[in-house]
Amino acid sequence: MRQTLVAGNWKLNGSLQSVKELISGIKAGAADAGGTQIAVCPPFVYIPLVSELLAGSSVAWGSQDVSDQESGAFTGEISAAMLKDFGCRYAIVGHSERRALYAEDDEFTARKFAAARKSGLIPILCVGETLEEREQGITEQVVERQLDAVIKLEGIAALGEAVIAYEPVWAIGTGKTASPQQAQDVHAFIRAKLAGLDKAVADKVQILYGGSVKGSNAAELFAMQDIDGGLIGGASLNAADFLAICKAGG
Ligand code: PEP
Repeated sequence: MRQTLVAGNWKLNGSLQSVKELISGIKAGAADAGGTQIAVCPPFVYIPLVSELLAGSSVAWGSQDVSDQESGAFTGEISAAMLKDFGCRYAIVGHSERRALYAEDDEFTARKFAAARKSGLIPILCVGETLEEREQGITEQVVERQLDAVIKLEGIAALGEAVIAYEPVWAIGTGKTASPQQAQDVHAFIRAKLAGLDKAVADKVQILYGGSVKGSNAAELFAMQDIDGGLIGGASLNAADFLAICKAGG
């Protein structure tokens, strides 16, 4: 039985004050979220603060990105070991905004995935198609290509120690949510693909849905057989909204 995981991706948002308020609100309500595992992914600079505020609580934290490099002359980069030093459990890799806005391709994403794992972080590997790709009927091909880059570099077993987030690009930050059945279809495809390589990995891996999840649609999404939680953008910036989603998974 896979546990539901709800992870908040705060993106480029927050201030010292708002981070303190948001964490305090999430901590206050986390106990009511049943068995849902909860995580937040703040901007890098707030990770030390978040690690102090969440220490000893049931809420985990992670990063929104990670360098593919361990150390050296890579100005502006943050390594997986540095994130580990501040108690991160997760690192998001391959978010569609990284892929689209910063030209991070499948191979680069796979190297980030590998770097995260090497330092003991759990990568949250984002995959998903654009609207154009969906309309062309190549959603499965795109998702398969994105998964294959990681499997080629790291092997199928590595996905058993990771989280996958299916995030249709057309649903991210747009208010358009994939219908539960649309999301389930892709989740089932991902799980079947993995099962073809290693059934135990397929049974174990948490596959999250991301794309305009809200308190009002989370329960029906999380009720689908292959949807094991959510990666939440906009609605993770408000404690009450985020907790409503967490409760829907509990
Ligand atoms: C995301 O950025 O991962 C995301 C799912 O954003 P939103 O919930 O705002 O669509």
